[in-house]
Amino acid sequence: MSIRSRTLAIIGMTLLVLTGVLYAFSQLILLEGYLTIEQDAVSVNIQRAQNAVNQKIDFYRNIGIDYAHWDDTYDYMVGQNDGYIADTIMPSLYSNYELEFILMVNPGGEIVFSEGYALDDQEITPVADDLTEYAKAHGDVLMPRDEQGRLIGDGIAGIVNLPSRTVILSSTPILPSDNSGEPAGVLIWGRTFDDSLVGEISEQTALNLSVVSADPALVDAASSDGSDGDLPIVVNRVSNSQTITSALLTDIEGVAGLMIRLETQRRVFQQGQQSITYFIVATLVIGLMAAAAIALMLERTVLSRIAYLNAHVSRIRQSSDVRSRVTVSGNDEVATLSTNINAMLDALQAQEKIKLARDNALEAARLKAEILANVSHDARTPLSVIMLRSELLLKGMYGALTERQKEVFQQILFNTDQLMSFIENLLEASHLDAGQLQLNVAPFQPAKLLDHVQHSLEPLAQEKQIRLEVELSGDVPPVLCGDEKRIDRILTNLVSNAIKFTSGGNVSARIWRPDADHWGIEVRDTGIGISTEDQQRIFDAFWQVDGSTTRAASSGVGLGLSIVRQLTELMDGKISVASEIGSGSVFTVILPLRQSANGAVHEQPALCVDR
Ligand code: ADP
Repeated sequence: MSIRSRTLAIIGMTLLVLTGVLYAFSQLILLEGYLTIEQDAVSVNIQRAQNAVNQKIDFYRNIGIDYAHWDDTYDYMVGQNDGYIADTIMPSLYSNYELEFILMVNPGGEIVFSEGYALDDQEITPVADDLTEYAKAHGDVLMPRDEQGRLIGDGIAGIVNLPSRTVILSSTPILPSDNSGEPAGVLIWGRTFDDSLVGEISEQTALNLSVVSADPALVDAASSDGSDGDLPIVVNRVSNSQTITSALLTDIEGVAGLMIRLETQRRVFQQGQQSITYFIVATLVIGLMAAAAIALMLERTVLSRIAYLNAHVSRIRQSSDVRSRVTVSGNDEVATLSTNINAMLDALQAQEKIKLARDNALEAARLKAEILANVSHDARTPLSVIMLRSELLLKGMYGALTERQKEVFQQILFNTDQLMSFIENLLEASHLDAGQLQLNVAPFQPAKLLDHVQHSLEPLAQEKQIRLEVELSGDVPPVLCGDEKRIDRILTNLVSNAIKFTSGGNVSARIWRPDADHWGIEVRDTGIGISTEDQQRIFDAFWQVDGSTTRAASSGVGLGLSIVRQLTELMDGKISVASEIGSGSVFTVILPLRQSANGAVHEQPALCVDR
């Protein structure tokens, strides 16, 4: 997955998660808040409806008090006002107060007067039997008394559930206008609690109300509540658009037989849901815009540049063209990355150049070694013939020579020998440079080595009136292992240098054992010495100490010590020099001690072992 797709996926996921969290939060907190507001509103409204019913009951109680606490009514009840019914209980009384029945009961519980009225038809009707039955049977309810047994002046009013219908009635003790004396009975009146009354209350309260039989579950809840406080209100969220709220209505005896129901449109809830939807949609739109802006900014400032870098670096990898460079402008990590990539390409390019130079150098060294090998081979053949013939001449094989002739042939032989050694040095140096030199390790006798060196260089020493001494330390094994020819060359080069750069002194060559695991060659002279500064460079190839004395003394080209050092290192040894101008020099070569397996002189190379 590319960084670009991953970035877009992360932004998208973040947006989705944020919106999800916001949605859950709005459902949990905001919607819950709207539901509480809705619940509070319907509770208030159902209480308003309950209050409206109570006001209606109070209305009948109040007009009941007006008529019951009146001398005319009282007189009628005590038999002193026969015209009362005709004068007072008229159709206008029923229709004015929306009365549907009037009953007058004497203290003995006998119904003195009863009459009904059909409000719709506006005509006098008899009172329904169940009402008169109720009035007779519930005298104790309709004529409530205080603790002293006296009728309570204001009487009682409320809802009564009759078998055929429900009515609202008030029952008020009949007293004289000054409320004195004993009541002469009760005045009971009221009306049916029918749909038209409910409709009237609905209109008055602007609520959609209905009155039904009480839900037994609600009645149970009310009775288990056990408190004298408000009756329970049940809010039933029928759908997303409607709630039905129910509250109990208690009858005149305090029994909950009816229930008032309020149907309401869930405007608050719907509004809340709509607001939350708008809120979430707005958040999503803003989030999408923000995500697009972030993605665009990231694309411009980071992603496109990384993509460019990636494409460019891939191209460089495929083409292996390390000369190519990437360019990313700016002053940030991506720009720094491009700078670092360029620096890496610089290094690679430099490495490539070095590799090319090394390959060229190796090839040149190989060619040089090849040419030198051919040249030296071609030069050594005639030189060998010259040396052989000169030696034969000196020995008088071609007739007797005069002393002067012998001297000249001696010089020819000496110089030819020098030339031969120079050619051999050149050849050795080229082999070493090309890494082609193979050591030929075999047992050899150090004593013979010293003898050979002394023998071959004695003439040179004598010529310069130098005493050449060789010494083999007693603790050196009689047979050592190594490449005898190369060790000879080391010794010869060091001793010939010592002779070359010494005039009229001593030169000594010693083989000894510095410790149990090594043996060493030490060449000491009393010659011109080497400055500390020059000591650092004398082992470099083709390097000679500058100065007329040395130049004049040296017949070489500055290869001798370079070969000595390379051969020593090839044999895992070390070379060092200690010298002082005018006092002479000491060259020391330390080599690891390898002995032949049983000390025999003519051992095979394979039998040479490390100690
Ligand atoms: P060459 O002898 O062919 O000039 P070398 O590599 O053998 O080259 O020596 C390098 C230089 O080191 C010599 O030219 C000389 O200046 C100096 N040198 C070597 N050995 C001695 C010595 N024993 N005493 C003084 N100088 C020396």
